[in-house]
Amino acid sequence: MRPLADRTKGLVQSNIRAVTLMLKDSGGINLGQGICDMPTPPSIKEAAKKAIDEDESIYSYYGGIDSLRDSLVVKSSTYNKMPVSSPEEVMVTVGSTGAFVTAMFCLLNSGDEVMVFEPFYGYHINLLQVMGAQIRFIPTRPPNWEIPFDAIEKAITERTRAIILNTPGNPHGKVWTHEELARLLVILEKHDLYAITDEIYEYMLYDGRAHYSLAALPGAFDRTITISGFSKTYNMTGWRIGYAIGPEPIISKMGLLADLLYICSPTPLQHGVAAAFKMNNRYFDDLASAYDQKRTLMCSTLDDVGFDLSWPQGSYYVLADFSPLRDRLKGFKDDVEACQTLIQKARVGTVPGQSFFNNPKDGQSFLRFCFAKELDVLQSACSQLKEALSSTRSA
Ligand code: GLN
Repeated sequence: MRPLADRTKGLVQSNIRAVTLMLKDSGGINLGQGICDMPTPPSIKEAAKKAIDEDESIYSYYGGIDSLRDSLVVKSSTYNKMPVSSPEEVMVTVGSTGAFVTAMFCLLNSGDEVMVFEPFYGYHINLLQVMGAQIRFIPTRPPNWEIPFDAIEKAITERTRAIILNTPGNPHGKVWTHEELARLLVILEKHDLYAITDEIYEYMLYDGRAHYSLAALPGAFDRTITISGFSKTYNMTGWRIGYAIGPEPIISKMGLLADLLYICSPTPLQHGVAAAFKMNNRYFDDLASAYDQKRTLMCSTLDDVGFDLSWPQGSYYVLADFSPLRDRLKGFKDDVEACQTLIQKARVGTVPGQSFFNNPKDGQSFLRFCFAKELDVLQSACSQLKEALSSTRSA
């Protein structure tokens, strides 16, 4: 076979998906991939079924159906406090990934440099690599995952074009404060850089924290593309409906790219998610308290069995360091072995830490646990972890 395009060279199955496949055979509980398998709200399902029955079956405008874009204008100007007033600044995409891909296509020439905070969400990195971008990693480390502003300044060159940030963060749950965003904005303005902010976990917040969008800060909107979606907030990761918000000239080009890449998001499902905006605020209160309970269960279990962790400020992941277990238990040499040990002994899937770091060594004592599960399933997973880790101790 003749060689494939160079851009395919580094492509391999992600660890996030690999664990899901491994568990399919062994039947364990998946705390690896953030699949979010609780039920989708009934009103959204009903609206999608109605749209199918009413033959809302043809392509929509590439930027999405009008009613959904109108609702997104309201949501982003109220919840996110962004200066958005027109549906031309809003675009519905195939998952937040569709927003990220079209933003990258729109902003980057091959060889352009992009800064990404580490630990990172691997799909951001792999997509940047496929785009031919040069990545500059900005390391953040536990326990506080502080933003090293000096390192950002130092990483900037003439070819730097953009920075990617993810708040609340995957995999560590870091939530950017208003002050941190303001400090970043000064740097972006000084060097005339774009920001792409992935805010898909914007409603999962703990300990009274608030979500701040960079694009809401005065002067930031014109250089920021904000990405979010319905997958996590409404338990519908397989529906693939996300969106991007940004200045009209960028969003209109991203829309044209989306048209070329996939024409539009599935029309009847867009009608379904439009119903999300008819639900009252109680939904978000319930979501917050359910996640708070799950975070406590997950993190206190990991604390109890001996992991070293900072409890996430937001999102539904925790990146836990298993170094303290290594001395007293077998099977925790590195992250891949620890992941396999937990699948075999506890029948629980996690994601190996190296998936979130440029140098695999920096992630080799971490595992990522996802607690977006039904409470009873999470309770079983936590009991299995407790049981396995104490029985392994005596082995
Ligand atoms: N965002 C989810 C995660 O980090 C799932 C994404 C995926 O399967 N790529 O696990």
